[in-house]
Amino acid sequence: MDQRFDLVVIGGGVNGAGIARDAAGRGARVLLLERGDLAQGTSSASTKLIHGGLRYLEHYEFALVRESLSEREALWRIAPHIIHPLRFVLPHVKGLRPRWLLRLGLLLYDHIGGRRLLPTTRTVDLRRHPAGTPLVPGLRTGFEYSDGWVDDARLVVLNARDAAEHGATVLTRTPVTAARRDNGGWRIETPAGTFHAAALVNAAGPAVLEVEGLIGEQPAQAMRLVRGSHIVVKRLFDHAYAYFFQLPDGRIFFAIPYERDFTLIGTTDADQQPGDPVRASDEEIAYLCEGASRYFARPVTPADVVWTFSGVRPLIDDGSGRPEAATRGYRLDLSEEGEGAPLLSVYGGKITTYRHLAEEAVDRLAARLPALTGPAWTTSAPLPGGDFAVEGAARADRRTGGRVPRACPRRCGPDRPGLWHPRPALARSPTRPRIRRRAMPGRG
Ligand SMILES: Cc1cc2nc3c(=O)[nH]c(=O)nc-3n(C[C@H](O)[C@H](O)[C@H](O)COP(=O)(O)OP(=O)(O)OC[C@H]3O[C@@H](n4cnc5c(N)ncnc54)[C@H](O)[C@@H]3O)c2cc1C
Repeated sequence: MDQRFDLVVIGGGVNGAGIARDAAGRGARVLLLERGDLAQGTSSASTKLIHGGLRYLEHYEFALVRESLSEREALWRIAPHIIHPLRFVLPHVKGLRPRWLLRLGLLLYDHIGGRRLLPTTRTVDLRRHPAGTPLVPGLRTGFEYSDGWVDDARLVVLNARDAAEHGATVLTRTPVTAARRDNGGWRIETPAGTFHAAALVNAAGPAVLEVEGLIGEQPAQAMRLVRGSHIVVKRLFDHAYAYFFQLPDGRIFFAIPYERDFTLIGTTDADQQPGDPVRASDEEIAYLCEGASRYFARPVTPADVVWTFSGVRPLIDDGSGRPEAATRGYRLDLSEEGEGAPLLSVYGGKITTYRHLAEEAVDRLAARLPALTGPAWTTSAPLPGGDFAVEGAARADRRTGGRVPRACPRRCGPDRPGLWHPRPALARSPTRPRIRRRAMPGRG
């Protein structure tokens, strides 16, 4: 194997895979190094929403919400086989956020992100709306609005696969153990060997500071690691809407149709200490059950929980007191020219903003990396298997025997929110990707 590359990317999560894909498509010889499996970190433990983040409006994060909303439809267009629109119902509750505030927030949400295909918000009477049926009596007004759902792990794999199809080398089970500037470039050590690159990207997610330590760099940014947990229970409702619920402590959580027979409820926000296990505590499980029982007529208890999963958000430490108030925005830090070979570090981010983040990262590297000759290209280039119009998803569904989620906004009116098959077909690809698996030392 050629051990010399233009760009080495550390981290096979959504951000690393997205950057590898973008850079490979612009002509660079790219190596993506993942210490375990692709998407093994935060990128498979998200709530799986392609969303603007309605609640971030409360924190005045208008730029982030605008960016995320405009990415929402862009991502849907490039991956209609793994992303589908979802209608959320947000009930108004007396004593919590007033009705006018919810309506105003949703009005803004509908308009600041360049929405074209998704239906707008509407006010609904929960006594008559299908989403009102499983809820406790007494809820009257609700708001129905649009966002998107994604198979997060597949999004990562498809980015890595497309990177490979553009010539990148993807090595899993290959942890970076050290990296140093050497001879005008980078020398990167792994148990699989030494690699050389003109530029290096640190996209290690929650391990970004750990990797800065391996590289011997001073972190440019303080980070806050915040665990979010989900519980999965047997299906609580038969319709295809999802819920956005508010709690008296000001927090919000979602209840989403999941894998046909289940409902996914989450999340929590708890500061995560290094070394602590990444799993839902009894307290978090009880908190989510109590929250759900405030809204669903049939109470949810810890005994109903069939599965839990948790992830760690790598958040920029902006000094916010409560973990849920910490910004979900991202920062890219590119080393100064005087420091030698370029190092770009990714701090924070969301699944929803990964493509835009990757584009910005590669744009910035392009000024220092002559191999990056091509223009930005990922806005409209479909991911493998996603080369059909969103309106064509229904046709694809028929072709594949119902294994692709149907995604036709024009058919998804208030009475037809769409019925989504949660197990999409595997993406096809005419070429075999250059993804190589390596055994972890000591694991055979
Ligand atoms: C509970 C929860 C819910 C969320 N929900 C949503 C949501 O609904 N919508 C949304 O848009 N965003 C959501 N997010 C945010 C989103 O999931 C993350 O921002 C995103 O997945 C981060 O991706 P990443 O690539 O930066 O990190 P990761 O996915 O963690 O990837 C980093 C990778 O680097 C690898 N790595 C680390 N060290 C090394 C090393 N030394 N060598 C090689 N590889 C290494 C790790 O193994 C890992 O695979 C959520 C996050 C959480 C925690």
